[in-house]
Amino acid sequence: MLLSRFPRVSLAHLPTPLEHLPRLSKHLGGPEIYVKRDDCTGLGTGGNKTRKLEFLMADALQKKADVVITQGAVQSNHARQTAAAACKLGMACELVFEKRVADAPEAYLTSGNVLLDRIYGARIAEVDKGSDMNAAMERVAADLRAKGKTPYIIPGGGSNPIGALGYVDCALEFLSQANRDEIIIDHVVHATGSAGTQAGLIVGLKASHANIPLLGIGVNAPKTEQEEKVYKLAVETADYVGAAGIVTRDDIVANCDYVGAGYGVPTEGMNEAVLLLARLEGILFDPVYSGKGLAGMIDLIGKGFFSDAKNIVFVHTGGSAGLFGYSSLLNTAG
Ligand SMILES: *Cc1c(COP(=O)(O)O)cnc(C)c1O
Repeated sequence: MLLSRFPRVSLAHLPTPLEHLPRLSKHLGGPEIYVKRDDCTGLGTGGNKTRKLEFLMADALQKKADVVITQGAVQSNHARQTAAAACKLGMACELVFEKRVADAPEAYLTSGNVLLDRIYGARIAEVDKGSDMNAAMERVAADLRAKGKTPYIIPGGGSNPIGALGYVDCALEFLSQANRDEIIIDHVVHATGSAGTQAGLIVGLKASHANIPLLGIGVNAPKTEQEEKVYKLAVETADYVGAAGIVTRDDIVANCDYVGAGYGVPTEGMNEAVLLLARLEGILFDPVYSGKGLAGMIDLIGKGFFSDAKNIVFVHTGGSAGLFGYSSLLNTAG
């Protein structure tokens, strides 16, 4: 696999650190925990979408686009990183938001990621929960074309084979760090949503014959649906990088027991995990993705799921800007 064959623009601060968390590891009394700090990718408060956007925005530039369109929830980290990337590359940005969280408080609608979207000057359109988001983006694109613009549509979460290349690269990056630092990684865990992160990581791990199991903690869909979505994208991504056939259905494992009442709805486990990491290690996680992923990992450590593992890597996918949007929904009393 040679990722330099694919067009790419530099947006992220790379490599991100692979950081040992001694105080958390001791507190949990299980395996040693390392965090791959993809919350530190550097663009507009960072996060996992920036790696994907290095490839997606390069494709947009190659297609002579002058405006990018994408979609997500109101507190979408992906939308915020896309808006920042568009600014850096001199493009306009149009965001279509699904009002996915019912009875959202004021801060959710005005602070956190959406405040940053406004600072970046993105144009925002809102549609009702359950809308066909691809159709909504197509309508925006048609309007822009009628005005003589050249729009480029980025799918929700930047999850297609082009975006997933960012996470193929991330797997290669932490494998090389683990090799250098002599860390034997026994398991990799992260939050999984639109599937590009998990799909890219599994392609990178399989192509490297690393023999490391990968676990996605779901934040939205039920297990089978999530695994099928990841599997489909992983197969397409392997094809796209010229490594067809390296991913099998068994390689794709998601645990969707930590979603709680639904996407973007806080859970007690998430709240506890966010406080624990802040207070033991000074690291901020987010209420929608990485906090629920972490809650899942912590619970599974307690249940002995990783009992054979000496070292676990948790890929921190970012999102802490979302904490401000959730200020009234988080319990900081601990
Ligand atoms: C988007 C996102 C994820 C999920 O990544 P996918 O590639 O969509 O599965 C996880 N964590 C954060 C903070 C995100 O913004």
